[in-house]
Parts: sequence; C-alpha cells; structure tokens
Amino acid sequence: MTRKPLIAGNWKMNMDHAEGVSLLQKLAWTLDDANFNYDNAEVAVFPPFTDIRSVQTLVEGDKLNIVYGGQDLSDKDSGAYTGDISGAFLNKLGATYVLVGHSERRTIHGETDAICADKVQAAYRHGLTPVLCVGEGLEIREAGTHVDFTLEQLRGSIEGLSSEQAETLVVAYEPVWAIGTGKVATSADAQEMSAAIRAEIEKLYSADVAEKVRVLYGGSVKAASAPEILGEADVDGVLVGGASLDAEEFANIARFD
Ligand code: PEP
Repeated sequence: MTRKPLIAGNWKMNMDHAEGVSLLQKLAWTLDDANFNYDNAEVAVFPPFTDIRSVQTLVEGDKLNIVYGGQDLSDKDSGAYTGDISGAFLNKLGATYVLVGHSERRTIHGETDAICADKVQAAYRHGLTPVLCVGEGLEIREAGTHVDFTLEQLRGSIEGLSSEQAETLVVAYEPVWAIGTGKVATSADAQEMSAAIRAEIEKLYSADVAEKVRVLYGGSVKAASAPEILGEADVDGVLVGGASLDAEEFANIARFD
C-alpha cells in the first residue's frame, strides 16, 4: 500500500493571527503557481491556537487544499482547566490533526508518556488524528541507545491505543538534538528509526496496521535536505519548524518529488 506523505509545518509560538493568515495565503499561492499536485502529498500547518479561527476562515473561504491542526490539546474534554484547549474546540474549528508530545512540551511542560497517552486518547475522542512526537536527546544518541529510548517513549505514549486507532496514527520521529539547531539527522538515521518504529507497531498490532501508520521525520528540515529524507522507504513525511515560517521554503519542501 502507498502512504500519502504528510508535509507538516509547526509554526510554534510565532506570528500573530494576521501574519499567520498572510503566511498561509502566500503558501497556497506559491503551491498553486507551481501547479502543486495535492494528490502527491498532504500539506498541513499547525498554527498557535489564537490563529486557528482565522486559518479556518481562509481555508474554508478560499477552498484551500491545506489542512491544519493544534500544537497541543488537553487530555480532558471540558471543565475547570484554566488555559487548556479541548480537542472538542479544535474539532469544531475544522482541525484535522493535533501534535502530541512535542519535545518542547515534554521538556518545558514536563509532559510524560502517560500524559501523552491520555492526550492521544483525547484526540481520538474528538475526531482528531494525533501526530505523536518521539525522539531522543543528544546524550542518548551519543550513548547509542536512541532506538531503545525512542521505542520506549512510543510504547508509553500509545498505551491503551486500539488497533483501529493505531491505523490512522501519525508518529513524528524528532531527535531533540536536531530541532532548531541546524543539525539534520542523516537520511540513514531517519530511515533507521522510522523502520524501527514501524517494526514496533507491527509487533504491538499487526503488519497491516504497521503498513498504514505514517512516520514523519522532524529536525531542521529544509528544502535542500527534504528530498533525500523523503526518499527513504519508511519516511512518510516531515514535520518542519523554522522552515515552515517561510512560505517559499516550505512550498519547496512540499514539492520534494
Ligand atoms: C519542530 O519543532 O518540530 C521542528 C522540527 O523544528 P525545526 O524544523 O526548526 O528543527
């Protein structure tokens, strides 16, 4: 089976809603000018929560082929959780995806695998597809235990996931040492971990489920590095931070073919 590549842009806490809308407009124009074939790859953006309503208005009003999602969600559905955002809110605003367990959430906000597993469940409860982020820090990479570490993170973050849910899961392998540092893992590194993640999914579920799960690579991806990484057999897309803030660069990443 062929897995449709997902080219995802994580805007993090950058730009206000007007700048976000203008970036999205420019991205859509750039892709249209290049006759981008949306059958070749799915293009997604992850704006800050406060931009999402504006993004929805633009996507729906201009019938853009671009989908969007939240950068995080609460593991709860509603109630006295000041400052949190429910998956129900994201769903109501037309979101398709939601990031779970980005390394910045794990490090800065202390999100554990167990919290991530609850958030993955919350995403599915509200009709959102989680993009679960996993990946090792520099010390673990240097110690050579990166595969074991990342697979443990994966298992802990999908605890309780049913086989039916697992089929649509997206996993983003993001080595922490490569995020925002300009250091890109080699395409062989990306393939090694993507294949290990797929093999683990096969072990936990089935070969059929493992064939369907999309595994992305993230970490300082640019238009120049994307084609080689995306050429790897088990890499089904990229999660892009910094370079997604430049419409032309991000459009060129999406046009990797
Ligand atoms: C990210 O934040 O998910 C990311 C991969 O960032 P960058 O591309 O800037 O390394």
